[in-house]
Amino acid sequence: MNPEKPTNITVNRPGLEMSITWADGHESRYSFTLLRAACPCAQCRGGHENMKSEPDQDVFQATLQDSPATHLTNVVPTGAYGLTLVWEDFHDYGIYNWHYLRALCPCPVCRAASKAAAGV
Ligand SMILES: [Zn+2]
Ligand SMILES: [Zn+2]
Repeated sequence: MNPEKPTNITVNRPGLEMSITWADGHESRYSFTLLRAACPCAQCRGGHENMKSEPDQDVFQATLQDSPATHLTNVVPTGAYGLTLVWEDFHDYGIYNWHYLRALCPCPVCRAASKAAAGV
């Protein structure tokens, strides 16, 4: 079983939050601001050479202002491997694959595991 496969995806627009339940039962809850801060597209990451398979640690500290850029308007399945998130400022370049989203889980358990892996 691949745990990096979602079984359920919920977007809570009033709550400014997206939730993913994974095949292993783990639930990830992402604030819209975290998702936008972590947009994996080349433009947001500052060039193709900065695109990584896992989010930068600093996205977890990012504090974005509430603005059209942090309002998620649509979630589009992208093949079998991820989601394209569409934002109110029409930004839709970011393809968030399952591995990236799982690594972006902000819960304490996943953060501790990711910090240990990164040697932080
Ligand atoms: Zn982007
Ligand atoms: Zn987690």
